[in-house]
Amino acid sequence: MNIFSHAIRGSLTFVLLLCIPSCIGAKKELNLQDVLGKENLVDILILGSGPAGMNAAIHGARSRFNTLILEGDTPGGQLTRTLEIENFPGFKKISGPDLIEAMRDQTESFGAEFLPDSLKSIDFSSWPYKVTTEDGMIIHAMTVIVTTGSAPRKLNIPGEEEYFGKGVSHCAICDGTFYRDQDVVVIGGGDSAVEEAIQLINFGVGKVTVLVRGDRMRAVKCGQERLKKEDQIFIKHNTQIKEIIGDGNEITGVKVLDKITGEYYVIPAKGVFLAIGSDPNTWFLKDKVQMDKRGYLVMQKRTQLTSRKALYAAGDVESERSHQAIIAAGTGRQAGIESVKFLTDELGLDRKFMAKLKDTYYKGKNEKAAVHVMKPAELKKLKTSQEFETQVLKAGNTPVLVDFYTDMCPTCKQMLPAITQVAKDYEHKVKVFKVNATDEGIASIRDKYKVFSAPRILIFKNGKIVEDYVNEVLSRKKLSDLVEKHIGSK
Ligand code: NDP
Repeated sequence: MNIFSHAIRGSLTFVLLLCIPSCIGAKKELNLQDVLGKENLVDILILGSGPAGMNAAIHGARSRFNTLILEGDTPGGQLTRTLEIENFPGFKKISGPDLIEAMRDQTESFGAEFLPDSLKSIDFSSWPYKVTTEDGMIIHAMTVIVTTGSAPRKLNIPGEEEYFGKGVSHCAICDGTFYRDQDVVVIGGGDSAVEEAIQLINFGVGKVTVLVRGDRMRAVKCGQERLKKEDQIFIKHNTQIKEIIGDGNEITGVKVLDKITGEYYVIPAKGVFLAIGSDPNTWFLKDKVQMDKRGYLVMQKRTQLTSRKALYAAGDVESERSHQAIIAAGTGRQAGIESVKFLTDELGLDRKFMAKLKDTYYKGKNEKAAVHVMKPAELKKLKTSQEFETQVLKAGNTPVLVDFYTDMCPTCKQMLPAITQVAKDYEHKVKVFKVNATDEGIASIRDKYKVFSAPRILIFKNGKIVEDYVNEVLSRKKLSDLVEKHIGSK
């Protein structure tokens, strides 16, 4: 390498060093006057409604700042899938859904507002930051707190995609009920794997084989001890799952490599529960803020500030932190404190200036209340296969949306308001029904359509399935797009 190429490399490094901080997080001063005239303005916008988001909101709202929570596709976040939490202070034992509900009540009591919509994009090219939602609303935010959590990882092996929702699941609390007396496999060696295995036992499954890829589990010791006490649970170390095998309709087993002997063998099973960790939901910040190789956001020193001004983050999106409810709640609260401090100390936002913004502040509450005229409980429920035949399969050219749910399934509850809204929006054009997939009266329909996972959304037309979504939280926008596709079509 000659001096010339060294010089070029040197100047490139210099340019890059200059560019990276400004590319991933503008450090220029923000001017409060720039918020004047901006519609749908909020002081603090929180992306995500898990423990981090709600605890950030509690501080924002208690400090009397205009605080809006964009709920996202999974209101309440991953914690809603946890049946038993025994390490959240103040509770010896509490379920995830109960804890989330209590936090939500508390958050709302201080005046923070929840918007049942999801993020589409965020634009940092000017300030206040411009956030576009799935429903097409544009919100201008003086500060944004990212608490979008994480999404379950996949194995990327043959059979996983094919049998997802038909035996492969990442939610025992949602789907455990379909595997009563059946043998199942849990993949993973962390706290979630322990939790999934215990939940499956509680649902009355047969044998549970836990496949751990290393020679030890990383789950907390008391969890591991709990697994060992259960006669039905068998832990196999040094294993690698190679394939999920089935007959085209359902799973029959998993093909496993014994990493010590090099031998392959098959474990017969009807269900495979993945508990192999999760990846942060930070796709919308790629190349816009500093993140590590895995997509976790890097905080500035010991704060909740990202590499971009007025953009904070907390909870599972954060690099180098344990992913636990209490940590999410604590870091969320800290992010709330820092954003309030920024609004007051750095921006100089005070009551007098806020009064000037009265007309441009976001005022969704009343409009939203007017839109939600139908209650989820009013959604018609089909209880027998006969009813299903008449109402769904013989509905002719009218699209029929069927929501298969189970009582314990948190994702099903999360999606219910969106389904109810679609039922109302398309009242005379689309029929919408809910079906408890575990009802005995519906057993023949459950078997016919292989409903082994909830939520399962099927749209029928002329007695045939035209849309099929499993184990996915569909937003109101997505559901509307799906039904619209089939209104009026042949
Ligand atoms: P973790 O990342 O902690 O564990 C993932 C597990 O999956 C590890 O054992 C890992 O193996 C294994 N794994 C990863 N990829 C594969 C693969 N391709 N094939 C086989 N195995 C794989 O995730 P968890 O969801 O268990 O936990 C996430 C966080 O949530 C943790 O901080 C945990 O403490 C917390 N949590 C807390 C709970 C509570 O407090 N009640 C309950 C549940 C979770 P390896 O160990 O070899 O890397």
